[in-house]
Order: sequence, then C-alpha cells, then structure tokens
Amino acid sequence: MADTGRVDGETSGQATEHDEQAVTFADLGLREELLAALTRLGYEEPTPIQREAVPPMAAGRDLLGQAATGTGKTAAYALPVLQRLPDERPGGDPLALVLVPTRELAIQVSEALHRYGRDLGARVVPVYGGQPIPRQLRALEAGVDVVVATPGRALDLLQRGSLHLGGVATVVLDEADEMLDMGFAEDLEALLDEVPEERQTVLFSATMPRRLDAMARRHLRDPLRIQVAREVPTEGEAPRVRQTAFVVSRAAKPAALGRVLDVESPTAAIVFCRTRDEVDDLTETLNGRGYRAEALHGGMSQEQRDRVMGRLRGGTAELLVATDVAARGLDVEQLTHVVNYDVPAAAETYVHRIGRVGRAGREGVAITLVEPRAHRMLKTIERVTGAPIKVERVPTVADLRARRLELTRAALRESLLGDDLERFRAVVETLTDEFDVMEVALAAVKLAHEATTGPDDDEEIPEVTLRPERPQRDGDRGQGRALRSRSGGSGDSVRLFIGAGRSAGVRPGDLVGAIAGETGLRGRDVGAIEIAERFSLVEVPAAAAEEVIAALKASSVKGKKVTVRRDKGRD
Ligand code: AMP
Repeated sequence: MADTGRVDGETSGQATEHDEQAVTFADLGLREELLAALTRLGYEEPTPIQREAVPPMAAGRDLLGQAATGTGKTAAYALPVLQRLPDERPGGDPLALVLVPTRELAIQVSEALHRYGRDLGARVVPVYGGQPIPRQLRALEAGVDVVVATPGRALDLLQRGSLHLGGVATVVLDEADEMLDMGFAEDLEALLDEVPEERQTVLFSATMPRRLDAMARRHLRDPLRIQVAREVPTEGEAPRVRQTAFVVSRAAKPAALGRVLDVESPTAAIVFCRTRDEVDDLTETLNGRGYRAEALHGGMSQEQRDRVMGRLRGGTAELLVATDVAARGLDVEQLTHVVNYDVPAAAETYVHRIGRVGRAGREGVAITLVEPRAHRMLKTIERVTGAPIKVERVPTVADLRARRLELTRAALRESLLGDDLERFRAVVETLTDEFDVMEVALAAVKLAHEATTGPDDDEEIPEVTLRPERPQRDGDRGQGRALRSRSGGSGDSVRLFIGAGRSAGVRPGDLVGAIAGETGLRGRDVGAIEIAERFSLVEVPAAAAEEVIAALKASSVKGKKVTVRRDKGRD
C-alpha cells in the first residue's frame, strides 16, 4: 500500500514503508557530501515525499508536490537543489532561487540548505522583508549559490539591480498556496518572468486551489505530480486506540510531554522522534525529569538494542524513545501508549505507529504533539485514516495536582483495604494526645503523597490556539496586494491597531507575513487590512488576538518595533 501516489497516473517505482527492503538516502542517488550531512543530522531514512521527489528532481524534472509542513518537504527539494550545484562555481550569481511566504520560513529553509550543503561549500543567503537591505546586499555581493527569499523582498532587490537571476537553473516555490493567500501572486509572476526559460521549476503546496493550478500550468513544463497520503488504509485495520493531540510550541514540547505522561501514567510507552539526535536529546531530558527512558535508534548495535528491549519488557524502563527505523518490527506486549513527538511525515507512518497498541481488545492510547505549523498534516492524517484525532488542552498545573492527589487517594484506599496497619496504631495514639485525628491523617497523607509523586511541577505550559480549518475555497479571490478586504472567515474577529503605516512602507503582505511567521495562524486567517498613513488596522480571529499581539510586540514590522494593541475604535 502506497502512501504517496502520483496523480498523473504514472505508477511509482519507489518502495513504501511496508516493503521488505527499506529505501535509503543512498538509493536515491545522492552524492557523498549530502549523505554525510544526513548521517551527521541523524536522519535514518527518507520520508515518502523525499523518496518520490528527490530522484526526478535531481534529474532536472519539473515537479508539482502537494505536501504540508511536517512531511519533510524542505529536504525533498533542498537535497536535489544542492545535488545539482556544479562542483566549480566561479560566479557569484545565484544558481537556485527558493521563494517562501514568510521571514520565518526563509530563515528555516536557508538553515536547512546550509546544514545539508555544508560539505559542498554551498553558499546560501536568505533575504526577507524586515531585515535592513544593506546587510542583504553585502551577502549577495559576496557570492551566492542559493537565494531563499520572500517574494516582495526578492522583487525589491531585483528592481534595485542587486539580485541577478540570469544564472538561475532551478526555482522552487514553497508553500505556494500561502504565497497566493498573502497576495504575492503578481510578485511571483514578475519574478518567474525574470528567470531564464530553460530552468527547472518546482512547486510545493499543502493545498492546490484552482488559481495555483493555473499558475503551475503556465510556468511548469510537464511536471511530475506527487501527492502525499492518498490512499486510505483498508477497513478493519484500525486498532482500538484513543487518539489525542496537543498543540504546543517547539520550546514547550519537553515540558508538555512530561505533563501528558504524568497525567496518563502509561505502563509502557514508545515516544517516536524523527532523528537519532532527537532520540538522544529527548531521552536525556526525560531521564533528567525523573522518567526511566531508554533510547533506541539505528546507530546502536544489535546487542545494545536487545539490552534496551529487555529493560522495557522487564519493567525497568517505562519509556522507549525511538526512531521509526529502530522500532520497526518491534512487538511489546505491555505497551499502552504511543507518543508522536512530532506529527509523522506520512499518514501511513502514523497508522503503523499506533498499530502497536490497542491489540487483543485492550484500549491503547496515541498521543501526538503538534507544532502550530504542522497542524495541517494532522488534518491530512485524520482524513486519510478516517478517524478523528481530538485536539485537547495540555493538562494544567491544577489538572496535574488533582491527578496526583487522586493517585495518592487510590493508594491509601488500597492500603486501608488490604494492608495490616496495626503496628502503626501506637504512632497515631500518641499523636492524638496532642492533635486531632483528622490533623494526624492529613499529615500522614501529605508524607505519603510527597514520597510517591515527587515535587510538584508548577510550570504552566502556554496554550496555542488553532483556528478551525476553513473549507477550501477554490478559485481566485481577486485580491490585489495594495487593497484587500476579506471576510476573515467564520467566528469572531477583532481589529488590531499597529503603529506603522504607509509612511513606514508597510504593505499588506508585510503584516500578513509577520503574523503568519510568528504565530500559529496562516495567511488566510488574517481578515481585512487597512493601511493608513501612520498606522494600520488588521482583523484577526478573536481567539488568537492575544497571541498575535504578544508575537508582534516581540518581533518587528519593517524592521522596527511597533505599538500593537486592540483597536479601541471598535472593540
Ligand atoms: P518539513 O516538513 O520540511 O518542515 O520537515 C519537518 C522536520 O522533519 C524538519 O525538522 C526536518 O529536519 C525533519 N526531517 C526531514 N526529513 C527527515 C528525515 N528523512 N528523517 C528525519 N527527519 C527529517
């Protein structure tokens, strides 16, 4: 069963997760320098989108990939871009151009290219709005192989004559639907007109609205279409599993995992991570927090793995932190919980992982931690598996305390029902000369509680709000960049005042970019935007208003700190 499929009807020759011999990065024909980087980063095997996209893209083919964040799409195009760089690169002008919607993504993608391309000496420069232009000019002048840019800034630099696109052999449009949603359509067209016709064009997008498809038809030549997660697992395959997800920021993930584990108290759990490094780091963090966690990854010898499995089966360890490769074929009877530390890169991986619990009529639990940007992949998984995944609030400190007291109460009850308590009678009797029996009981409960549950954790984990998915709107919304007025979608919205306007050079795309880059919202969640001379007004979902205000205050608009608050005129 394939979890990627080509929509143009070609059959895929690539292996899927269930194939006997797994596909390695070396099988994809990547050069040594890239393989070395991937090993260093602890990537054990390509994700489905990488298996599908890397070979044809490395061979120079145009590609239209439908894949969301979390699928490994960045490496799916970054590796072939690097693979195609010539060994000798005497010129200073870029050979590849990657266009992305937000500053945050520009930084992330350029960091990824830099890490993968280190041994190739790849020169990667990110350019985006909000950073002073002179610094970007200097970086470009020093010579560059790959430019990662937001469309507005790329166009600015092009018009100033500082960005030369005459040598570009590959153009990648990443999160193309977001770029259109943010009003970058005209900028993209203008940029694509400037790159040589004899180029490779690659487009990745989570959704494929009609307008984007039309754009792809104009600019891509005979593209190979690749789509992640098309097939639905056959009926009856799904085990009995309670599936929940928690949306948390990257920084809050270790604490959130600890909190969820405390409340769930699994008998034995597997926590899945993406890379070897993540496995090692998380195992160390969990042990530091008092859990008995063991690491399992492809970098370990068979003997080491056997020892780890022995400790899990014998109950000396309660948590196994593992990569998919290492956990393949693993069968642990007493497993009660599967935790996805990240949203898996393919729906089938998800199904495969959670299939390890909920066997033989017992109910299993699957928990997924979702970073705001990856929530679309969660939706894809829900759609493909046909089973709802309930997004819950991370337990609060109060929830945890209540749960711990409940555990202590249960332990005391068990002792009252079963243990021989006679030998403690004298202790209680002497104390009751001085104290009330209730007070003696309270002190005893406190001691028992503290002895079994350890110190209370009082770190509150910040909640991240997600907007419900809007129905996919096909076709053109007909918005220009300068003036946009959109419904803002379902639900309440509020207007925010932002203390920078036309005189500071603010354009709608800057505001949408800053919001989408710094919060869990997407471009399309932002409603009407008004830009006045000295200030701007932006409509955002009411539920996310505080998050947007905090994020914008902490960052900058057009390179400057600005006032951000609810618009007093209306709310
Ligand atoms: P993306 O979907 O491109 O945003 O990637 C999501 C995350 O997966 C990033 O943190 C990547 O570093 C990581 N990643 C991408 N490919 C692999 C792989 N083959 N193995 C492990 N981690 C990966």
